[in-house]
Amino acid sequence: RPTSAADVKALVDEGGIRFIRLWFTDILGQLKSFSINAEELDDAFEGGMGFDGSSITGFNAIEESDMIAMPDPTTFRIIPWRPEEQGVARMFCDIQTPEGTPYEGDPRHVLRRAIDRMHAMGFDTFNVGPELEYFLFKDNKGTETLDEGGYFDLTTLDAGSDVRRETVLALEQQGIHVEYSHHEVGPSQHEVDMRYADALKMADDCMTYRITVKEYAMKYGWHATFMPKPLFGENGSGMHTHMSLFKNGSNAFFDADDTYFLSDIGKAFIAGQLRHARELSSIFAQWVNSYKRLVPGYEAPVYVAWSRRNRSALVRVPLYHPGKEKTTRMELRCPDPACNPYLTFAALLQAGLEGIEKGYELPEPMEKNLYHLAPDDRKRLGIEQLPETLGEAIELTAESELVLRTLGEHMFNRYVEIKRQEWEDYRVQVTQWELDRYLPVL
Ligand code: GLN
Ligand code: MG
Ligand code: MG
Ligand code: MG
Repeated sequence: RPTSAADVKALVDEGGIRFIRLWFTDILGQLKSFSINAEELDDAFEGGMGFDGSSITGFNAIEESDMIAMPDPTTFRIIPWRPEEQGVARMFCDIQTPEGTPYEGDPRHVLRRAIDRMHAMGFDTFNVGPELEYFLFKDNKGTETLDEGGYFDLTTLDAGSDVRRETVLALEQQGIHVEYSHHEVGPSQHEVDMRYADALKMADDCMTYRITVKEYAMKYGWHATFMPKPLFGENGSGMHTHMSLFKNGSNAFFDADDTYFLSDIGKAFIAGQLRHARELSSIFAQWVNSYKRLVPGYEAPVYVAWSRRNRSALVRVPLYHPGKEKTTRMELRCPDPACNPYLTFAALLQAGLEGIEKGYELPEPMEKNLYHLAPDDRKRLGIEQLPETLGEAIELTAESELVLRTLGEHMFNRYVEIKRQEWEDYRVQVTQWELDRYLPVL
């Protein structure tokens, strides 16, 4: 992994790289990029590259739109799907104002601030392991699937195995260690799992993962999508997120003597995420369509509870290797892979730290299948539910002091405004369901 501008320049010379794409992310998690000539590298490292930020979603409007993209040399990678001759590389950038201060509308900055708070509280690393699922469709105009395969099915039922292999190799060329890949539960649905890494690298890697999956699908003429629920009646695509905090090389979530092998820190962190899950929903599940996934019956969580075995709970503490320090972690099952990973990891970290700082109490685990619990029983047990729509979610966010602190005022206001508008656009639609249901009888 290169660490300095000099390392990058050596790699550029060695690899005959002609173009360097500067990558960054808008408020909604869309990857943005412009390309510079390799000869501009010195300038880029010195003062960053200027660009017009006014047309980037969530960035400043026209009157203060001069922005600087400052490349992060540690993220330099050759892009494997571009030609080898006169090759192309990329670096992720931090966005700055012309005064050279971090731009508060930059999602990478929001995550950096959350990590700063963690450091101030005495932890070294926030480790994150997300499991991004996606569908492969014949093209981007419809949802025609390529196979009828299911969970862990083998080749003849799995039309995606060749493209998945190429995708995994390309991810590895970009410095991402892939641990697992397999067909998922839904037809034409897949999952490729990256080994956990610190949150900033992992947020960058999620961006790389999404574009890589899409690029290789396109080589086959197919369309890969991270849309949370593209098919009615089938599983949606989730991004289960495994998390732990490390301090001096040891796992701060681990306690060998606890029934659950969880330390007080681990418990308070989980309690923080449970307590704040509803107000964070519009961040980890940010689209109208995200809430079509978070319904009972499809292995996606609906109720705010934790469990060791039960996959209908929001948080699971996996039991693969109980009592093993390194693998002790929590798994949050509600995020989806179309989120902004920087904002999502920042919000999750802030919620967990809140739990530690304020000493939140972890409730008892719920080992029952929560989908089957009657509403009265849930109420009696005090189990809350995630918001059912983006409209409900964004109003909870709009009231959230924690999200305000996480995003900063500038981004908070833009986010709430954009998401309210999205909900409004959807709310006034007349859908096919309504026509089918009402037109014949009303
Ligand atoms: N697709 C499911 C979800 O929406 C997860 C399925 C699984 O990984 N077991 O979260
Ligand atoms: Mg998995
Ligand atoms: Mg999965
Ligand atoms: Mg999982």
